[in-house]
Amino acid sequence: MIEPVIYLDYNSTTPVDARVLEEMLPYFTRYYGNASSKTHRYGWEAAEAVEIARRKVADLLSADSSEIVFTSGSTEAINIALHGLALNYGDRKKNIITCGTEHKAVLETLASLSEQGFSITQLNVSRDGTIDLQELKTHLNDTTLCVCLMMANNETGVIHPIEEIGALCHEKNVFLFTDATQAAGKMRIDVNEMHIDILCISAHKFYGPKGTGALFIRRKNPSVKLAPWITGGGHERGLRPGTLNVPAIVGFGKACEVSTELFWEEVSRLSSMRTRFEQLIEQQINITINGSIRNRLPNTTNICFNGIEAARLIRELPTLAFSTGSACTSALPEPSHVLKSMGLTDKEIFSSVRFSIGRMTTMEEADAAVQKIISAINKLKV
Ligand code: PLP
Repeated sequence: MIEPVIYLDYNSTTPVDARVLEEMLPYFTRYYGNASSKTHRYGWEAAEAVEIARRKVADLLSADSSEIVFTSGSTEAINIALHGLALNYGDRKKNIITCGTEHKAVLETLASLSEQGFSITQLNVSRDGTIDLQELKTHLNDTTLCVCLMMANNETGVIHPIEEIGALCHEKNVFLFTDATQAAGKMRIDVNEMHIDILCISAHKFYGPKGTGALFIRRKNPSVKLAPWITGGGHERGLRPGTLNVPAIVGFGKACEVSTELFWEEVSRLSSMRTRFEQLIEQQINITINGSIRNRLPNTTNICFNGIEAARLIRELPTLAFSTGSACTSALPEPSHVLKSMGLTDKEIFSSVRFSIGRMTTMEEADAAVQKIISAINKLKV
């Protein structure tokens, strides 16, 4: 019998929750209308389902449904937001503040804006993955268009103090754009309390389907105007034209609803499982946990197995699904840009891996994973 693989890579993607799938299915075969068809019932039913989902996504963020634009995921949302801001306000404000631990979707988009004449300020990141708010304050000025800092990091789980960052931004009339892709479902998000102007999330990171996500774009105090970056038939307020993926959007809405229902129970279950996982490993092996221990997502641990190469560890553990932060697409893997920004050496980075647990992870699986990891490390040490 083939041994099952224990999945510990929830930050990469999650399985679709059974409740989400059930909600989606009729929209493939029965209610298959185009949500833009205004002349018949198929279209009206699809459009109504999209609006119900929009309400559920807005509720997850404590936003208004009119502030939600559906996209194909966070990468697209990030491009629409940053290019849209640049196109609309870039003649007056040409500076964007960020830091090196952001996702490549943000960093590459900012690199492209830099080629178009924007100045990108990179804040320093400390060894624990956090930034200094005093430093941020010194950079905010009349030329600053936006601060672009993620809510929680995908590799380390480290959380930025978005509420305080938002308050600083609003004092200086600067927009705050936060990538909440990893935070959704794992942290409470309130766009008003947190002074967020633009935010993106992606359904497949919290038990929804792949290929759908959303942008929150603030309508009041201040009202944010994005210029369209993609052109087409005017769907989604002209910001994301293209036929809406109705089944995925319906599933996205359901994923938001389920995650709100389960929130407290899930956060407490995952954080105690993560603590146990780390402690059991620490009792037997010399490890360092990368990133702030205190301000972290409840499901993520980024561990440096001092002196053991992560690539070898991964090869030694074919029945565990976990990852390094490195881009492994090339023959020579790049060291994780996140850990590099935090000041880790290449040796430390190449000895670091990320485990991320989720809704379907059982304590038995987590314990079995620990045993496998310990045996693999002991084998690699000799
Ligand atoms: N931002 C963060 C923090 C992520 O973790 C990811 C996905 O890995 C993305 C953006 C991109 O999201 P998507 O897969 O929806 O394009």
